[in-house]
Amino acid sequence: MAHVNENYLNLQGSYLFATIAHKVADYKKAHPDADIISLGIGDVTLPLAPAIIEAMHKAVDEMGQKETFRGYGPEQGYDFLRQAIIKGDYEPLGITIADDEVFVSDGAKSDVGNIQELFSEDNIIAITDPVYPVYLDSNVMGGRTGKAVDGIFEKVVYLPCSAENNFSPAFPKEHVDIVYLCCPNNPTGTVLSRKRLSEWIQYCKDNDAILMFDSAYESFISSQDTVHSIYELPDARQVAIEFRSFSKTAGFTGVRCAYTVVPKEVSAKTKDGKRQPLNPLWNRRQCTKFNGVPYITQRAAEAVYTPEGRKQTRENIAYYKENARIIREGLESIGLTVYGGVDAPYIWLQTPKGKTSWDMFDILLEQANIVSTPGSGFGPCGEGYLRLTSFGSRENTIRAVERIKKLSF
Ligand code: PLP
Repeated sequence: MAHVNENYLNLQGSYLFATIAHKVADYKKAHPDADIISLGIGDVTLPLAPAIIEAMHKAVDEMGQKETFRGYGPEQGYDFLRQAIIKGDYEPLGITIADDEVFVSDGAKSDVGNIQELFSEDNIIAITDPVYPVYLDSNVMGGRTGKAVDGIFEKVVYLPCSAENNFSPAFPKEHVDIVYLCCPNNPTGTVLSRKRLSEWIQYCKDNDAILMFDSAYESFISSQDTVHSIYELPDARQVAIEFRSFSKTAGFTGVRCAYTVVPKEVSAKTKDGKRQPLNPLWNRRQCTKFNGVPYITQRAAEAVYTPEGRKQTRENIAYYKENARIIREGLESIGLTVYGGVDAPYIWLQTPKGKTSWDMFDILLEQANIVSTPGSGFGPCGEGYLRLTSFGSRENTIRAVERIKKLSF
């Protein structure tokens, strides 16, 4: 008889987006003519840049010719893309990364979810609250969290992030082995300062912990006081694994391409106290369970680093950032308190006094026909906040803000 992995039974239902969909469907049924605008989506809407499309077409043609056809590629990614990543993302920051420290993948979601396989079940993980749910759920599946009581997992260390601590979590009081930080942050749209990130690196060194640094929104950064890569900071190579993605940088959410950097210095202990580097383990994991990203996709990702690709993808990011500014300043102009939206496509709205996240969601849906995401869906400390995104069209963003400005709270 096959036995099920009972860790899966500890997963908490993900009711957030299902509940939102139900509420919106019910509202539409009752108000068929309602002109609903979504500021809830976490997905890009602008098409791929022309330089990327051109590279994809060329790669498609190569696949149609006997001489240039490609079958299985390297599991870690083609050299041309690994080198383009190093030259384009790291060398300008003065960071040295070796080719075999870069692992090209089909998404940061897969990588942040799969990386926990390298660690034994008794590791204690720390996640921020609110959080991008994949860090937590993948560890629930891995048996590292224990059971949930009222939605809180007994073995997980939660690091509260709210306006009170400027969305910069305090160090855990108890020992932890793995820390997940997302900067720029989904859902709060905020960043951690260089100083604080340096302190986190020191914390990880002092406590023999690994830092999982998710920087999927790096291309939205405009503030000086944060990092584009964790390896800008001294000693990060000893403790940090970095996750990056072309999804939001270049509109690849449907194309699928990302990469993870595992420096050769990052190691964890065996039970008998020996240090085991993680790079060869991740390489082995990928070679065993992953057969690489399609050639066409990798050529598309390579095109992001060409002068035209850079220019065009930056224009798209600028478009979303301008939407974020319009939302942020529009809400501030009517006295609402908002965070984020400067270095990220997310605006984290503090709900007016006495209103829960869902109260505010209902007000926006019913009185302004706007769909948002209740902060409480990302963790208990998200209560009292609402996430708005800048991925819509300019026209809809402006219309949505004008509608919110007419409401009184
Ligand atoms: N990390 C964070 C913080 C995200 O918000 C997302 C997507 O929304 C991802 C990773 C997933 O990125 P990808 O599309 O590369 O799987």
